[in-house]
Amino acid sequence: MEKNQLYHKAKNVEDAMAFAIAHSEDFRFIAGGTDLNVNRFHGTIQTSCLIDIHEIEELRQIKGEGNDLHIGALVTLDELMQNPIIKKEFPALVEAAHSVATPMLRKTATIGGNILCENRCIFFNQSEWWREAVGYCLKCEGEICIATGGTKACFSKFVSDTAPVLICLDAKIIIADNGKQEIVKLEDIYTGDGLKPNKLSNTALVLSIVVPLNKTYKCVFQKLRPRESVDFTSLTTAVSVDETGRVKVAVGGVDPKPIVTEGKSLEERDELIKYVMKKSRVVDNDYYTRPYRRLMIDVLLKRCFKKLSSEEN
Ligand SMILES: Cc1cc2nc3c(=O)[nH]c(=O)nc-3n(C[C@H](O)[C@H](O)[C@H](O)COP(=O)(O)OP(=O)(O)OC[C@H]3O[C@@H](n4cnc5c(N)ncnc54)[C@H](O)[C@@H]3O)c2cc1C
Repeated sequence: MEKNQLYHKAKNVEDAMAFAIAHSEDFRFIAGGTDLNVNRFHGTIQTSCLIDIHEIEELRQIKGEGNDLHIGALVTLDELMQNPIIKKEFPALVEAAHSVATPMLRKTATIGGNILCENRCIFFNQSEWWREAVGYCLKCEGEICIATGGTKACFSKFVSDTAPVLICLDAKIIIADNGKQEIVKLEDIYTGDGLKPNKLSNTALVLSIVVPLNKTYKCVFQKLRPRESVDFTSLTTAVSVDETGRVKVAVGGVDPKPIVTEGKSLEERDELIKYVMKKSRVVDNDYYTRPYRRLMIDVLLKRCFKKLSSEEN
């Protein structure tokens, strides 16, 4: 490593923010490190400064406040899966968390890191010599997207498995940045640009994820991947219906951002699926082929709707 490396263990949110502002040009927050460290090892993310947030106690809580459940950004996926309120109210979130990586990784991986994990592509998530051999892709020092055979846009895929379920549960996130706090809808932070998948400023610290507790959602989750463990998603689907009958669909793995749409009832299934198929910019950047993944959007979403309809009756 040529650059001087700085590693700061933040004591609290204020300390993390102050350090972030002082090093805003070249740093990353590190939570569990299960995504960031792999990218650093491969050289696809290079920052000289790391701000370790994982011991900030106030970001490790799960608590009810009014009609909402606040899930601290540093709650690990394993803790989330064990939490009695989440198990009872949001079983699809438990299922989504359970589908991430492996048991050991889930004990370290956090929910905040999961919703912000880096987009992936088979031409990007490779070793330095591999990337050099193919001439580097747009996301990594190259000039064109190799997956699409030469476009100037990056179609690396959005791979967080918990985000589609959280979006279907109308989750918001609380962000601290520059001395201020704001709350935004989770789906609004994603850009659709594989080069910069989310619009948070680089000093923005996610404090918690807020999920309404009073909407009696039914939500289901389906994931496609080569093996039932370890593998990142090739397609993640989530569908929810709330007490008014409103349906929300969120799909990951087939575009640089989650594809989200809503309908008034489960009867709108075919139009909602059609919308997702139309919006998904699936390219050949996965182990499964593009036509197969497109076909599976229809299959997995129909399975989700079938499951929700049978639960409704
Ligand atoms: C073998 C393997 C398999 C995997 N499989 C899956 C999978 O199936 N599905 C899946 O979704 N993921 C998978 N992952 C990716 C990763 O493990 C998870 O996404 C994990 O939840 C990331 O959390 P983390 O705490 O380790 O994030 P980190 O690696 O610490 O951080 C990830 C990113 O988020 C930023 N960040 C983290 N916390 C905050 C915060 N509070 N505020 C602002 N920025 C923050 C970091 O700066 C970094 O850019 C896998 C990883 C490995 C190594």
